[in-house]
Amino acid sequence: MKVLIVDDILENRKLLWELLKNYGLCDMSGDGQEALDMFEGAITLDQEPYDLVLLDIAMPRMDGQEVLVRMRQLERDNGIAPEGQTAIIMVSAVDASSEVEKAFKVGGCTDFLHKPISRGRLMVKLSEHGLISSNWWAEKG
Ligand SMILES: [Mg+2]
Repeated sequence: MKVLIVDDILENRKLLWELLKNYGLCDMSGDGQEALDMFEGAITLDQEPYDLVLLDIAMPRMDGQEVLVRMRQLERDNGIAPEGQTAIIMVSAVDASSEVEKAFKVGGCTDFLHKPISRGRLMVKLSEHGLISSNWWAEKG
């Protein structure tokens, strides 16, 4: 699994990296524009799109909602069919239904996780989306 972790706070990136490092290659970015460039490069240069993006919403310069919209646009621009889209899971400390609704309806996110993120809730989501085995709890300590 190829993962892109996007959060402007280093500690948050490290936390997700710790949770996911055993499941695949994890790239990280603290900036929305940089994350977009990495996402595009994975599609166009590497020919190996990310399987999963964990995307923080509250970030300076470009917030996660805008990054999400642009990532989906990049996929369409590169002829990626809906079923081939990257799983993009939004991550937010803000418990606002308007943010959640926007991410799903406007942005087309795959799922949404509220901070603080626990290993259990994250793994359940990844399992639901077929990114890891449903036996994750028995396989990795
Ligand atoms: Mg943030």
